Amino acid sequence: MRVVSGRTDRVVVVGAGLSGLAAALHLRGSGREVTVLERDPTVGGRVGIHTGPGYEIDSGATVLTMPELVSEALAAVGADFESVEPPLRLRQLEPAYHARFADGTALEVHSDAESMAAEVARVCGPAEATRYRRLRAWLARLYAAEFDRFIDANFDSALDLVSSRPALADVSTLVRIGGFGRLGPKVARFVRDPRLQRVFTFQSLYAGTSPATALGIYGVIAHMDTSMGVYFPDGGMRTIAEAMASAFTAAGGVLRLDSEVTRIEYDGDRARRVHTADGVSHEVDAVVLTADLGGAQSLLPPPRLPRRPVRHSPSAVVAHGTIPVEVTRRWTGSGHHTIDFGAEWERTFAEITARGGRGRLMSDPSLLLTRPACTDENLLLTRDGQSHEPLSVLAPCPNLDSAPLDWSALGGPYVRELLAELERRGYTGIAEHFRVDLVDTPQTWADRGMSAGTPFAAAHTFAQTGPFRRGNLDTGASNVVLAGCGTTPGVGVPTVLVSGKLAAQRISGSR
Ligand SMILES: Cc1cc2nc3c(=O)[nH]c(=O)nc-3n(C[C@H](O)[C@H](O)[C@H](O)COP(=O)(O)OP(=O)(O)OC[C@H]3O[C@@H](n4cnc5c(N)ncnc54)[C@H](O)[C@@H]3O)c2cc1C
Repeated sequence: MRVVSGRTDRVVVVGAGLSGLAAALHLRGSGREVTVLERDPTVGGRVGIHTGPGYEIDSGATVLTMPELVSEALAAVGADFESVEPPLRLRQLEPAYHARFADGTALEVHSDAESMAAEVARVCGPAEATRYRRLRAWLARLYAAEFDRFIDANFDSALDLVSSRPALADVSTLVRIGGFGRLGPKVARFVRDPRLQRVFTFQSLYAGTSPATALGIYGVIAHMDTSMGVYFPDGGMRTIAEAMASAFTAAGGVLRLDSEVTRIEYDGDRARRVHTADGVSHEVDAVVLTADLGGAQSLLPPPRLPRRPVRHSPSAVVAHGTIPVEVTRRWTGSGHHTIDFGAEWERTFAEITARGGRGRLMSDPSLLLTRPACTDENLLLTRDGQSHEPLSVLAPCPNLDSAPLDWSALGGPYVRELLAELERRGYTGIAEHFRVDLVDTPQTWADRGMSAGTPFAAAHTFAQTGPFRRGNLDTGASNVVLAGCGTTPGVGVPTVLVSGKLAAQRISGSR
């Protein structure tokens, strides 16, 4: 594994999102002097929080999988869920999701094999339950062949894929079991019911592609999502970042909030000083850069050759607010996470992934509703003597490259249209009673420096996957390492936690 050469005693980490905090903990654990500089007043980045009148709700990631990666980062400095302040209390969601379909049927997605097989048998019949078990086993095999070697590992080049006998064995397994074929058709060979096919392939959207074009290896996200458990921390997702920050500072790390890095000073190809907007500068031996790659580029030496254009993932519109519990109580088939699938499927992906200005809003939307108070009652609030719960509605949409829409004019009307559609689908009262306090759109993400107005970074197409994705050492500077969703392994909470660890390994040299 290539590592940063020379002294690496003093490290600055730019950004206190989960990748930055993971990198900081692993580096601190390896004895480095670490300072984290974050431009926001809070930690967490895209695992964000919206504070509305009398309530708080996660404004970024809501689905937590593989919490053991959080434990691993905490353990790097000898901390754990109990020792951090306040302690981190996770609950496994059961069911992990509720899925509702356009034909009026619903299915609960259980992580436990027996419960899920029983649910599949109830909704789709016993033969499909047998086929589901085969699909589950296939997803588990993908995960086993991929995770340690291709996700949780630094690549120096594509040759690493075949550089050793075990690596070659894992690649051959992936080839043999269809990992490099297309996910949608592969899943359809296991389960015949189109509803189940959706439940096990919609995750390709997390990778920025459609099930029809996603590589089979991205079934690994479905495995994490549907077999390995979905969790929720008491108080919300932001407590994960708070716990990591607390462990980091308790271990002697320095965390500076409201500190935007405006410039990195180089001596030749080596970063020497990091400057912040408030006029402070930090001498460094190495830097971990976690800003979105669009923004990060301005902090790096200009590239010697023009960079290959990046294909970005679709974006999302998210409406956050509160709704009376009296209203949600009447909804059926809805829980903490509800995916409400439209009847259209391939067309939906075609609309939101089209390139070159041909993107469209979903004509028959598939939506994610998140109601965290279903799990943590402390998130309920009382207003005018009535109990209310936080609610967010997320609609995937094209990014600004795909459809350069005027979101300042479109945001409000689009959310009203989505709520009217949900009202028609049986979420009675949502159009009238959902009090929306915040609408994030592609423009929001663009204003925060995210390329193409998407918070989901470069899509995981074949050419932007594994060793072909922008590598963490591909910075043009010999002591600056990338971490976060734009580099390897990719987008999502588990993957950025891994990316922080991998960046730390490039500096500490230890695996
Ligand atoms: C709406 C939404 C829903 C999502 N849902 C899920 C989900 O359910 N499950 C899941 O696994 N993933 C989900 N994701 C994706 C996941 O949240 C991200 O992939 C991940 O959190 C990104 O982490 P990061 O560390 O790469 O980037 P960030 O969290 O963006 O961290 C980068 C940090 O750097 C800071 N920064 C940037 N520039 C500077 C600078 N110049 N100086 C100082 N600081 C700077 C930023 O303020 C930020 O805090 C979701 C994301 C969004 C937005």
